[in-house]
Amino acid sequence: MRFVRTKTLATAGVVALSMALAACGGDESGGDGAEVEVEEGDFPEGSQMAEFQEAGEITIGVKFDQPGIGFQQPGEDTPTGFDIEIGEYVAGKLGIEPENIGWRETVSDNREPFLENGTVDLVIASYTINEERRAIVGQAGPYYTTGQQILVREEDAETIDGPDKLSEVSVCSVTGSTSLENVVRDYGAEPAPFDTYSACVRQLQNETVDAVTTDGAILLGYAAQDPDNLEVVGEEFSEEPYGIGYYPNDDTEMCEFLNETIQQSIDDGYWAEGFEATLGQSGIETPDPPEQDPCP
Ligand code: GLU
Repeated sequence: MRFVRTKTLATAGVVALSMALAACGGDESGGDGAEVEVEEGDFPEGSQMAEFQEAGEITIGVKFDQPGIGFQQPGEDTPTGFDIEIGEYVAGKLGIEPENIGWRETVSDNREPFLENGTVDLVIASYTINEERRAIVGQAGPYYTTGQQILVREEDAETIDGPDKLSEVSVCSVTGSTSLENVVRDYGAEPAPFDTYSACVRQLQNETVDAVTTDGAILLGYAAQDPDNLEVVGEEFSEEPYGIGYYPNDDTEMCEFLNETIQQSIDDGYWAEGFEATLGQSGIETPDPPEQDPCP
């Protein structure tokens, strides 16, 4: 699966985003994907949105190691995944072409600091909305909701079959994530803390740990890459609504812009197309789109 980059329309004020499926391992020419035109918004003077529009560029913090969500293929110049699709749509509303988006890798633990210190303008990185985070940064959305699950080696799928087992086995999760917090607080687990889920998955593959826990949407992406060896087990045991991080958290105009933009992407069909082309490839059915929280 590949995401085909944009074409610019001659008309100013419209950014055309095109998505296409190509044969696995094939080249960029395959596929006849949908194309969505995103009309540039009109923003109040002095707003952050007007500033981004004026600058013609934006820096977005995303994951680089989560297939289907935010994934940087070695040798490619831009990442792919559902978070990237959402980022391109938001940028389109600001009149920014995809090639003028700076994709910056964020890991779970540096998302708030990167927003606070201006390393990134927005975070779209499997970023669960919660009150602790909203006390520090703004989080618009959600644009998607998943839930926490467990990834194991196939031969362990019958024995490690739910979160109650996590206190008895060696489990890996990520510093600064709700995933790690949830299993410590609710299931007495003591996860080995790593910086990224891909590092956890390597630990699982080389048998240093017996389980990895985080959002199902993330784990299904890894399982799809190693289907003979890895399996996602059990039901979802938390709710993880993904939001778009912005700063400062009292920028209500920004929150409203992001919520409206998410809703437009749902209404014009881009959201579902983008989902199918990315997380859909990990075997996840396209869900009903979520409703956005009211802005503070
Ligand atoms: N969605 C959870 C979180 O934001 C886990 C995934 C992640 O760490 O990115 O903490």
